[in-house]
Amino acid sequence: MSAIQKAIIIGAGPAGLAAALRLSQRNHISCVVYEIRSEPTTLGGAIGIPPNGLRLLHRLGVYESLAARGAVSSKLTVHSSNGTDLGEIDLASWSERKTGFGLMRIKRTDLLDVLLEATEKAGITIHYDKRLVAVEESAQGVSVTFSDGSTDTADLLLGCDGIHSSVRTLHVDQNIVPEYSGVSGIFSLLPTSELSPSASSVSCLNATLTPDGLFVLMPCTPSGDGLFWFFSYEVPIPASGDTRDGWEEHRKKEVERFKYNLFDVLHGVQGLWGHLLRDVVSQTKVVKFYPVFRLPLGGSWSKGNCLLLGDAAHAMQPHAGQGVSMALEDVFLLSRLLESSYTSTSDIFAKYDEIRRPRIEKIYKTAASNADRRKKTSPWRLRIMECILWIGLKGYKYCRLDRWGIGQKDLVYDIDQVEILGAFRL
Ligand SMILES: Cc1cc2nc3c(=O)[nH]c(=O)nc-3n(C[C@H](O)[C@H](O)[C@H](O)COP(=O)(O)OP(=O)(O)OC[C@H]3O[C@@H](n4cnc5c(N)ncnc54)[C@H](O)[C@@H]3O)c2cc1C
Repeated sequence: MSAIQKAIIIGAGPAGLAAALRLSQRNHISCVVYEIRSEPTTLGGAIGIPPNGLRLLHRLGVYESLAARGAVSSKLTVHSSNGTDLGEIDLASWSERKTGFGLMRIKRTDLLDVLLEATEKAGITIHYDKRLVAVEESAQGVSVTFSDGSTDTADLLLGCDGIHSSVRTLHVDQNIVPEYSGVSGIFSLLPTSELSPSASSVSCLNATLTPDGLFVLMPCTPSGDGLFWFFSYEVPIPASGDTRDGWEEHRKKEVERFKYNLFDVLHGVQGLWGHLLRDVVSQTKVVKFYPVFRLPLGGSWSKGNCLLLGDAAHAMQPHAGQGVSMALEDVFLLSRLLESSYTSTSDIFAKYDEIRRPRIEKIYKTAASNADRRKKTSPWRLRIMECILWIGLKGYKYCRLDRWGIGQKDLVYDIDQVEILGAFRL
């Protein structure tokens, strides 16, 4: 077992809060969290969490509180560009039988609230308004300095500060820079009560194919009184440049004309379904536009007594719905390695890397390939895709392919069952 007694955690997102909880509960490590924002983040729409992540949230002791706030449904209905149903699929039927958990869609703020409540109960301190400016390793451990001049020292530093991680750029790996994926999204949350009565029948995930991208609508509360929608589509790098200012200028344009654009995108969707989607767009008052960035694979995840977890290490596109679950798997593996017979951080981090990298690379590539299907296509190509999808969905259902877990194997992966001892392959 390692002799680590104190950990500094930079970032109070899902990775940071889960790390603080697990390491204090399981490894009896004293954790202190530092967050750059002045208060818990209010950003974001609704997050999908699959069985592999929900099982870990259950082990953290927060599943019940999450289930009281999120919508659990793994059924997906696919609609064609003219509004007809192409078929249904249960995305987690087999994995739910294996794990006991389905697929949850929950507001990001609710996920964070629940994790914050648990950290508070566990007596973990979170300092807000803390901008990291320096990291230094010494014989005493690892020291951090913040822009207000305050400092702290611990045996372990965890960089859980997201895709633009300061821990990564200041200390672990300056060469890895976020890159634009080519796909962007626009989303909103709205109460069902503001929509036509047919909105109350939306009880599962609904994906509508269009030549311009994918429009998804789903409930995100247990009673279905809150709906979340997003449109995922190809957006080239703005003429104003792939810079913060360039994207900000583009964001304003996308937000200003979202209704006009989406009415155009959805104009071919006929019938009640088309009517409902246009109603959803028309009743939406506020949208968020986000260009999707990711970290290139292959960067370093650790240095000295410092380890990057979650998006700080391996931000991927959200199109596999696995970002939070990957962060949770990171945390649980670290916790297991800390209580194993490995004693030095270098051995722990080497084993961590060996186990984690193949899994991350696989999910990262799945997310990228899912995103490619949201790119612009011609109407005739879309018709062919719709025919193939219709046959595929029918075939999956009638041949009961879910019996063999086809398409669901990644959802039953249990990081707590992975062999962690044995010789290093590095
Ligand atoms: C639009 C969108 C949709 C998504 N949908 C899904 C989904 O359906 N399912 C899913 O699992 N994942 C989804 N993801 C991905 C998911 O949000 C991330 O993978 C997840 O939030 C990663 O958690 P994290 O804690 O590593 O990073 P973050 O959530 O980015 O949290 C990092 C925290 O660190 C703080 N921070 C940043 N810099 C510093 C600093 N220098 N000092 C101190 N604190 C700092 C930030 O304020 C933040 O609180 C989506 C992402 C996006 C953008």
